[in-house]
Parts: sequence; structure tokens; C-alpha cells
Amino acid sequence: MAGRGGLNLTHSEPMERFLGRYGEAGGRLAPIIEAFSPADLIAWAEGLGQETFVGSSGRVFPKALKASPLLRAWLGRLSEQGVVFRLRADWRGWGEAGELIFDIGGGQIERTRPDVTVLALGGASWPRLGADGAWGAMLAGQGIAMAPWRPANSGFDVEWSPSFRDRFAGEPLKGVAVSFAGRLARGEVMLTRYGLEGGALYALSAPLRDAIDARGEARLMIDLRPDLAQAQLAARIAKAPADQSLANRLRKGANLSPAAINLLREAHGLQLLHEPQALAGMIKAVPLTLTGVQPLARAISSAGGVRLDEVDEGLMLRARPGVFACGEMLDWEAPTGGFLLQACFASGAAAARGALGWLKAPA
Ligand SMILES: Cc1cc2nc3c(=O)[nH]c(=O)nc-3n(C[C@H](O)[C@H](O)[C@H](O)COP(=O)(O)OP(=O)(O)OC[C@H]3O[C@@H](n4cnc5c(N)ncnc54)[C@H](O)[C@@H]3O)c2cc1C
Repeated sequence: MAGRGGLNLTHSEPMERFLGRYGEAGGRLAPIIEAFSPADLIAWAEGLGQETFVGSSGRVFPKALKASPLLRAWLGRLSEQGVVFRLRADWRGWGEAGELIFDIGGGQIERTRPDVTVLALGGASWPRLGADGAWGAMLAGQGIAMAPWRPANSGFDVEWSPSFRDRFAGEPLKGVAVSFAGRLARGEVMLTRYGLEGGALYALSAPLRDAIDARGEARLMIDLRPDLAQAQLAARIAKAPADQSLANRLRKGANLSPAAINLLREAHGLQLLHEPQALAGMIKAVPLTLTGVQPLARAISSAGGVRLDEVDEGLMLRARPGVFACGEMLDWEAPTGGFLLQACFASGAAAARGALGWLKAPA
């Protein structure tokens, strides 16, 4: 599914900034990502015959812009190495003797007692892809503390007027800047029937979600022309012929799309000021009240999961020696931009090193 968006594998920005994307979890993830860095992930993909490139925003993609060639090459290599895949086997927890219990369909249960276990069960968003977070109850039953699931990189609700919603849902606002609580992100925002989606918004989705959880709403500010200072923008609007309609002056002078012009009306009231300086101020600060968060099932990723203090440096569950956990099932979150897959791959590598170390350790 990630491949449908081009498969943004990782990001090319400097490591310090990269690690900052993980917020509070950055400290715990730092040694894990440094040990399997964006450069390592790129080398791994290229070692599987998938050349990569850095897009204009610094994001890294395979040249094929899809997941299937990489996945096929990877599965082929694993099969050659002797990995056996047991598909359609649902892990249902541990038996009394510590064995793993699998539901293999048709009412059949299989039990197995491995030397070591690595859990990579995913988060709880997009449950129809299989990662439904149901394993959370099995781990909680073992006394393992879980942070509650919450949507990350999700859309937000805005109470649009019916006419704006009917006319502009599905329209993008390109090259805008969004800000909230002193944080700013640039990129694209998509107008939807329920509110807003899009990469720029996802970058702020954690503080926006937390504010809505605490206060029931959050006030987002959109700058529709972040590349121009207010005075420059005012000068351009002033140059547009004064006898034209306001919409035409905004379209020609400020280069705004019909969706952006109507968003101005939606947010500032139908009567926009005509004076260029005031108008430019309105374009650079469009206030929108976000009244809700789209549900977890529709979020690109999830926050929450196994608390990081429940695993040791090798990502072994302290409460279940010999069992390791990696990927989105651990309690971290990050914006889109390749930071999700990077942390999944890097924590997978860390859990694998931990598991090998466990197997080699004297009993
Ligand atoms: C539409 C979309 C686009 C995305 N695009 C990108 C992107 O371009 N770049 C990026 O960095 N990230 C992207 N992401 C996020 C990224 O795909 C995830 O963060 C990542 O796949 C999580 O990997 P994981 O291995 O932890 O879990 P998953 O990939 O979710 O894998 C978990 C697996 O465990 C299985 N499972 C769960 N419970 C059980 C059980 N009890 N028994 C047996 N199996 C079980 C599930 O079926 C699933 O196969 C995107 C996500 C979505 C939804």
C-alpha cells in the first residue's frame, strides 16, 4: 500500500534533523537509526537491484516508484537463504508452556516453540491490511505496558459551509505553509468533504491531535503564499487593475486558485477587505478551526503501542526474554516523508541483531 504513493523509503536530510522527526522517542531511536541509517537502507535497496533517487523535497524513492520489484527481489533472497514463509497464520498469543499459538485457519491451531521470536505486527491504522493492533491485548495480558493507539498522519475535521464543501472537496492547495503552536510545515494540503488532509498537515498532526484531545479544537493557520512577504504580495495585488472583480485581482495579482480564493472567504467571512496590504495579510494568515481528528482506521500510521521502556537496547521485551519487537508496534510516531519506513527497517535490523545476540549468549 505504501508503494501506491511511490514508496518513500527514507529521507536525505542530515541525521540530527532526521532524528528530530521522532519527537520524544528520538532519543531511544537514535542509536537504532544510526546503526541502520538512511544510507544503509538505500544501499540495501540498491543491493536488491532497486536504484533510488532523491526527490525535490529530499525524500528518497526507488526509481521504479513502487514496492513490488523491491519486495519480489527481497522475498527471492530470503527464500534462497532458507526462510520459510507461513502465510495466513494468525498469532494468538502464548500457551501455558510459553509456546506460540497460531490459528492456521479451518479451525486448526498450531503450536511452536522457537529458540527466539521477533514480533513485527505493525500498528493499528488501516486494519484491513492486517495490522489491526489486536495483539495489544495479548502483550498487555503479559503485563507489558502499552501506550493507547492514536491516529498519526491523519486528516482533520473542519466545519465547512455546505456550498464550499460541495464545490471544493478534492481540490489541493499547493505550496502552502501551515502553522500551529510555533511549528511550521510547508507542502500540500488537500481540501476534503470532512476537512483537510495532506503532507504539510501530517507534519503537524501530533500537536494538532493532542490539542484537539485536550481542548476539543485547534486553530490552524495557513499561509497561502509563503514564498512572498506581505509587502511584496500587497504590491502585486495593487498592480492588478482596480476595476476588476476581487476574485480576478486575487487570481492575477496573488496567483491564487479558485479554491484558495474561496477558502479566504470561508475563513475570513464573505466580505474580504479590498485594501492590498490588508488583503495580503489575510492571504498569509488564513485561520481554520479543526474540530476533530479522522479515525485511526483511516490514518496513515498510528501512535501508541509497546512502550519503549518495555524493551531493552536490543528491543527484547523485558517481560518476555527471547521475544523481540520492532516496527510500528513500538510506541513512536513520525510524520510522512520516509521517516516511518526508515524507523521500521532500522528497528527490524536492531531486533534481528538482538535476536542473534540472544541465540549466541550462553544459556
Ligand atoms: C496508504 C499508506 C501509505 C504509506 N506510505 C508510506 C511511505 O511512502 N513511506 C513511509 O515511510 N511509510 C509509509 N506508510 C507507513 C508504513 O507503511 C508503515 O509505517 C509500515 O509499513 C509499518 O511496518 P511494520 O512492519 O511495523 O507493520 P506492517 O507493515 O503493518 O506489517 C505488520 C504485519 O503483521 C501482520 N499481523 C498483525 N497482527 C498479526 C497476528 N496476530 N498474527 C500474524 N500476523 C499479524 C499484519 O497482517 C501485517 O502483515 C504508509 C502507510 C499507508 C497506510
